[in-house]
Amino acid sequence: MHEDHKMHIDTKVIHAGQRPEEVTGAVMPPIFTTSTYAQSSPGVHKGFEYTRSHNPTRYALERMVARLEGSKIAEARDPSCGGFAFASGLAAMGTALELCDAGAHIVCMDDVYGGSNRLLSRVRARSQGLKVDYVDLTDLNKAERALKSETAMVWVETPTNPTLKLVDLTEIAKIARKKSPKALLVCDNTFASSVNQTPLAHGFDIVLHSTTKYMNGHSDAVGGVLVTGDEALCDRIRFVQNSIGSVMGPFDSYLVLRGIKTLGVRMARHNESGLRIAHWLERHEAVERVVYPGLASHPQHGIYKKQMRGGTGMITFFIKGGLDEARRFLESLRVFQLAESLGGVESLVDHPAIMTHASVPPEMRRELGISDTLIRLSVGIEDCDDLMTDLEHALGAAVRAAT
Ligand SMILES: *Cc1c(COP(=O)(O)O)cnc(C)c1O
Repeated sequence: MHEDHKMHIDTKVIHAGQRPEEVTGAVMPPIFTTSTYAQSSPGVHKGFEYTRSHNPTRYALERMVARLEGSKIAEARDPSCGGFAFASGLAAMGTALELCDAGAHIVCMDDVYGGSNRLLSRVRARSQGLKVDYVDLTDLNKAERALKSETAMVWVETPTNPTLKLVDLTEIAKIARKKSPKALLVCDNTFASSVNQTPLAHGFDIVLHSTTKYMNGHSDAVGGVLVTGDEALCDRIRFVQNSIGSVMGPFDSYLVLRGIKTLGVRMARHNESGLRIAHWLERHEAVERVVYPGLASHPQHGIYKKQMRGGTGMITFFIKGGLDEARRFLESLRVFQLAESLGGVESLVDHPAIMTHASVPPEMRRELGISDTLIRLSVGIEDCDDLMTDLEHALGAAVRAAT
């Protein structure tokens, strides 16, 4: 297992941090549904005392994500090698925020997942006194101005949701190390997945995933992870994970680990179909504008080429017309399901202004350009021609409604 980091990603997603189970040789870890573990004498045990703190199924998943994100922490040093699994992406975020002291200053990307914004501005600003500055970190001058010597955390999401802005992780890390030496640098890597982007390699301290999305990929489990490659930070996260207790259960850990086994082939298809559909939409008469990192027209396409290995299945586009056209389009799709969430094998479509981003204040939505005509696609791994037929039909219905 010490050679994990030398494997290619398609091998890692199947084998990294894994080994056959010791008693039976089972190639997949059993689902250890136990809350506690027998001791032979007080304090004498096999390294497992209580499932909030220790669970072999959760450890197997945690070691996997740790290796996928490039942590080299040895299992002898930490049982999950720097990976930590939580009941949801937001539970992972809530735990990461506990690394900050009360009243801490946080610089956060302006365009983040609606729930991340809500947790910071409507919960932790009150309960923890966090002072959060939302900054467009695609602009390095703005980043430079926002980062202070006392800044405790920099919270980046890239690509962002739903406007798919890209942040230059290497440059942000450089600026932050210089201006905010105490800051922990966290990247929400949910949209990219570990296949397309690995923020630790760019100098970040912590990576977060909502495993609900690409990592699990089957829309059947809510979960989150944190990963660090730093031993001291790993000890701190282990302490807060156990102290807060919002851990992922063994059954969900099994599901997510199972989902990750196909992450390599899934992302290859998401990347390929995403690019193809983005190109196609860009030429469509009913479409105003397409935002997709893999398109040359994307404002940060240069960062995409430097930092990402694929554009994912996430496409944002603006339909011509207004809310009526958007509504007719969304009602006319047959293969794409109108639903929140993303990153699953099935194609989904979202209307952020009414659905996922309703919790973002209206004036902030306006500033970010989350208008009534903005539509977010999560392109699944179905046959790409079938998906384009579905989109063509629904765009046609929207145009007819308008005339
Ligand atoms: C969904 C999502 C989250 C929150 O994760 P949950 O599993 O829903 O709690 C955080 N960040 C991003 C980018 C997401 O898409």
